[in-house]
Amino acid sequence: MNTEFILQAAEAVKQAIAANESELESLDRAIGDGDHFINMKRGSMTVVEMKGELAPLTPDAALNKIAMKLLSAIGGASGPLIASFFMAMAKAEKEHGTDTLQKMAAAFAAGVEAIKQRGKSDLGEKTMLDVLIPVSNKFTEMAGLGGNRDAVFQALKNEAEKGMLATKDMVATKGSASFLGERAKGHIDPGAKSAQVIINTICDLAMQK
Ligand code: ADP
Ligand code: MG
Repeated sequence: MNTEFILQAAEAVKQAIAANESELESLDRAIGDGDHFINMKRGSMTVVEMKGELAPLTPDAALNKIAMKLLSAIGGASGPLIASFFMAMAKAEKEHGTDTLQKMAAAFAAGVEAIKQRGKSDLGEKTMLDVLIPVSNKFTEMAGLGGNRDAVFQALKNEAEKGMLATKDMVATKGSASFLGERAKGHIDPGAKSAQVIINTICDLAMQK
């Protein structure tokens, strides 16, 4: 991963979040407090606006700077979770690099682990982790098998979609949806939806490289 790729990904994610406005809005209105789209829009716009200051940085420094900025820009429950993801990715990038699929999968896994720790949450709690954990596991597995790049990214897109859809029938035990109990059933988790949109977008970009 280089800084140029991070900047391209930021622009593509900003557009993808905007394109999913109505779905993200209505999902958080149904089972949350209705601010998830705004949070993700603000976060993605913030990173795009940092382009000038990020461009000269090494990828790990850029990821760290993004983490610090997102902590305050997004706020809510998801701000610190997303910031911790970027911080852990930055550390992995600095220590081991991300020049192979295996190292990329390891950096991604470190980011997901940081969200689990910060959120005190795990698989099956109707959150973004129901997308991120299966995608991370698939990434580690396929990168370890030495799979073809495009096949790996396509598999991650499929896994993200599956994970996102699986949140529909779950009861939430974390975040504001947890107050709804059984009533949260029947709605996809907004954080899972935005995670799927972002993974889809970044995999598409990576497949064009
Ligand atoms: P807030 O909950 O503060 O309104 P957002 O609406 O931006 O923040 O984000 C809500 C999303 O954050 C949820 O849909 C869920 O995916 C995710 N989330 C909330 N709490 C946790 C947690 N403890 N661990 C992992 N993800 C969480
Ligand atoms: Mg919310």
